[in-house]
Amino acid sequence: MSSVWHPFTQHGLNEPIPQVVRAEGAVLYTVDGARVIDAISSWWVTTHGHCHPRIVDAIREQAGKLDQLIFAGWTHEPAEAVAAGLRAIMPPELAHVFFSDSGSTAVEVALKMALGYHAHTGTGRHRILVMEHSYHGDTIGAMSIGARGVFNAPYAPLLFDVGTIPFPTGDSAATIDALEAACREKPAALIVEPLVLGAGGMLMYASEMLAAMAEVCRRHEVLFIADEVMTGWGRTGTLLACEQAGVVPDILCLAKGLTGGSMPLAVTLAQEPIFAAHRSPDRAKMFYHSSSYTANPIACAAAAANLAIWRDEPVLDRIAALGTGEDAMLGRLSALPGVINPRRCGTIAAIDLQVPDSGYLSSQAPRLMARFREAGVLLRPLGNTIYMMPPYCIDDADLAQVEAAITAAVLDLA
Ligand SMILES: *Cc1c(COP(=O)(O)O)cnc(C)c1O
Repeated sequence: MSSVWHPFTQHGLNEPIPQVVRAEGAVLYTVDGARVIDAISSWWVTTHGHCHPRIVDAIREQAGKLDQLIFAGWTHEPAEAVAAGLRAIMPPELAHVFFSDSGSTAVEVALKMALGYHAHTGTGRHRILVMEHSYHGDTIGAMSIGARGVFNAPYAPLLFDVGTIPFPTGDSAATIDALEAACREKPAALIVEPLVLGAGGMLMYASEMLAAMAEVCRRHEVLFIADEVMTGWGRTGTLLACEQAGVVPDILCLAKGLTGGSMPLAVTLAQEPIFAAHRSPDRAKMFYHSSSYTANPIACAAAAANLAIWRDEPVLDRIAALGTGEDAMLGRLSALPGVINPRRCGTIAAIDLQVPDSGYLSSQAPRLMARFREAGVLLRPLGNTIYMMPPYCIDDADLAQVEAAITAAVLDLA
């Protein structure tokens, strides 16, 4: 029996834990020789495909040259290349690049930047606004700004209080009205997942809504933080989801696809006023955040290779083609009994199952997951929501196999 304690895994259910030895493109190979289609990009990180040769080569080369370097007051070429590469494709206002290791830390950094900005400019603002059903990570600060529920109930005493605006459903005016009201109390910042709330159940909202929220924040001098940890790197059809709303956030969090999904690395980008509030001859105002592996050179080399792939390969064309395939699939799946709310944003496609017990702990999820495992497809439903988010390189045959697995499972459980 393995001594490994797995994340988001109930060891008491004794479910099998497959061991994967190799991956290529959209496919994983297990130690038993099974071929498994990675239809959720290994938890939303793999963009171009597993083991993209250019990323593999970059990692290999960097590992033999410079493996790690203190990043406080020192720098290296791969980090400079990533910062320059980001400057070239991100909105020009986001001029300052702060490195960390994961989406959660990118979010923690964003919160600290926002509060540092308000502290150093003397506004007295510190409250954070969030959207209902949001997910921003699993560290204490990131949990504090995420939806409360079974995920974090035992830790509730550690979580700080935030203001919550409703998720925009049919009545989007309610969201804007609540945001207006909350902004009058002079909060520090609003943080949102642009266009798609991932862990909250692949909930989607219109780009006009995103633009409207950013506009309210701008009028009230509330910092607008975009958590594009999941939505970035083409997932919603554009490089950033914010692009579709014509919004440039004050602070932007990127992680998952930053290295193409190969290495843990994150960045938090900030506009000039936020950097300027920390820049001073006064050492007490420097930005007090670091982790040992900040801007690890090998991870940065992988990110630089990812940026080169975005420059040189038709990534957005692949994304558009995948979206077309998913639309056709959704059309067929939505005709199945008990399937509701078919939706898609970029490469993210989702359906809900009409079941008596919805929510994350819906009894459907483990049953579905077992079905998918048997069918050689890695899908991980969020409660009664089945979604797919494959690597952009997935081919038609594999996409058809994913659809067949979903169809069989839905018909079987109907
Ligand atoms: C996954 C995710 C995070 C957390 O990223 P980790 O790298 O898992 O810490 C934060 N925000 C969003 C929107 C995410 O989807």
